[in-house]
Amino acid sequence: MEAFIPVVSGLQDVITKIGQSHKVEFPQIVVIGSQSSGKSSVLESVVKRDFLPRGNGMVTRAPLLLHLVNVPENDPQRKEGTTMLDGDWAVFDHKENQKYTNFDEVRKEIENRTSQLTGNTKCITDVPIILRVFSHRVVDLSLVDLPGIIKVAVDGQPDDIDLQIEKLVHEYIRNPNSIILAVTAANVDVATSDALKYAKDVDPEGNRTLAVVTKLDLMDAGTNANDMLTGKIIEVKLGIIGVKLRSQADILSHKSMEDCLKDEEKFLRRNYSLLASKNGVKFLETKLHELLMNHIRDRLPQVKQNINAMISEIRHELEVYDPAVPEDKNGLCLCILEEYKKHFAETIEGNIETNEL
Ligand code: GDP
Ligand code: MG
Repeated sequence: MEAFIPVVSGLQDVITKIGQSHKVEFPQIVVIGSQSSGKSSVLESVVKRDFLPRGNGMVTRAPLLLHLVNVPENDPQRKEGTTMLDGDWAVFDHKENQKYTNFDEVRKEIENRTSQLTGNTKCITDVPIILRVFSHRVVDLSLVDLPGIIKVAVDGQPDDIDLQIEKLVHEYIRNPNSIILAVTAANVDVATSDALKYAKDVDPEGNRTLAVVTKLDLMDAGTNANDMLTGKIIEVKLGIIGVKLRSQADILSHKSMEDCLKDEEKFLRRNYSLLASKNGVKFLETKLHELLMNHIRDRLPQVKQNINAMISEIRHELEVYDPAVPEDKNGLCLCILEEYKKHFAETIEGNIETNEL
């Protein structure tokens, strides 16, 4: 079953490339939330690499389709890119011959491509940037990062930018095959969470929404997130996972991802000892993988049905050209090969005749 995920990711890209993103039928994890709620930080901690553009204001202005591909530690390709990343590498679909081994450059390329796609404006685009990250430190996952939900346009942005973002977010999350990762910061009231509101619009039963509560360390003194994390304030069927991610100070002091993970574990043990095993980035990662696998398994009968419907449609089309199309697969292949051979021979003969003239 594990091997099925890269195949799904490939199909997803093809469908997106031909401009059918709203018709995508394969599962993917879509990250949504208000601006600065910690979406990029959640993604980075799952990837365990510091590579997403960040800064004040709206940084993410194009959807980012991020495919994490697990490669074994002894994969021969790892040796080539040992410069900065212990062998990890990344490839963009719009630059498929370039292998990035420096994640600062990946960040720059996301920024460049975003400017290119938005014509150097502060607007957003619905054209996705497709990035594959190969690492032995990740599980196979496909994630989509979207611009943050905002309420008011700032200087240089069109007045309806909030509606444009809402439309874009809806386009990705309304797909019944998307798993929604709704990110909310612990220091805002979860009852006002934009992410959970948007998720509820398209998934009222909560069958494909997982809530992530960031910034556990930034809650007011004397308060804690126990009620939020145990679903007493808002219930989320698939679960609510609390995390403590890198603060801006950690980023500025170049604190490593590994050290931040260790900090988080300590923080959870100290402040949420009873809930520690069901929270944190590691648990989030395990949970995401499990959800993706269950999702694919649940959808398999439907996918099979769609493929069968496509086969009979194509068979029907073939019969229009040649009523004697055989039923079995081998016979069908032979028949196509025979036709091809005949066509090939006729073309060659035609060419010879023309040349002889
Ligand atoms: P996005 O706009 O939703 O992508 O938010 P970012 O991931 O860029 O996060 C916004 C800011 O919050 C950054 O400065 C992060 O370092 C900080 N941040 C995110 N999560 C946490 C957290 O759990 N704790 C602390 N202290 N800061 C966080
Ligand atoms: Mg961001």
